[in-house]
Amino acid sequence: MADCLFCKIIAGDIPSTKVYEDDDVLAFRDIAPQAPTHILVIPKTHIASVAEVTPENSVAVARCFEVIAKVAASEKLESFRVISNIGADAGQTVFHLHFHVLAGKPLREQLV
Ligand code: AMP
Ligand code: ZN
Repeated sequence: MADCLFCKIIAGDIPSTKVYEDDDVLAFRDIAPQAPTHILVIPKTHIASVAEVTPENSVAVARCFEVIAKVAASEKLESFRVISNIGADAGQTVFHLHFHVLAGKPLREQLV
């Protein structure tokens, strides 16, 4: 997608601090971390949000969760939270599916 920030990061047109990359998935550090560890895990195929997941593209979501487990292990995260915002009212600002992986501070007081 030409105008998508995360597609530009995948293409290497915008720099990122990569944590993990393979043919299907990229994990990189959030530019404005909200916890000591704040990693974004995204599929390389453009899917706008969880609301756009279908039987045809859902394998990309499964691959993201495999990478979340891998990154949690490599970052030695014993406890972490995975969040995906869907739509502007939920706080989505980048309309390319992404999973926030947050860890490194107590998260209990926050939403869910
Ligand atoms: P959301 O608000 O759920 O759509 O999440 C988008 C996230 O992307 C935010 O947490 C931003 O801080 C993050 N972000 C925006 N631009 C960049 C960038 N160039 N590199 C890394 N993270 C970014
Ligand atoms: Zn995109």
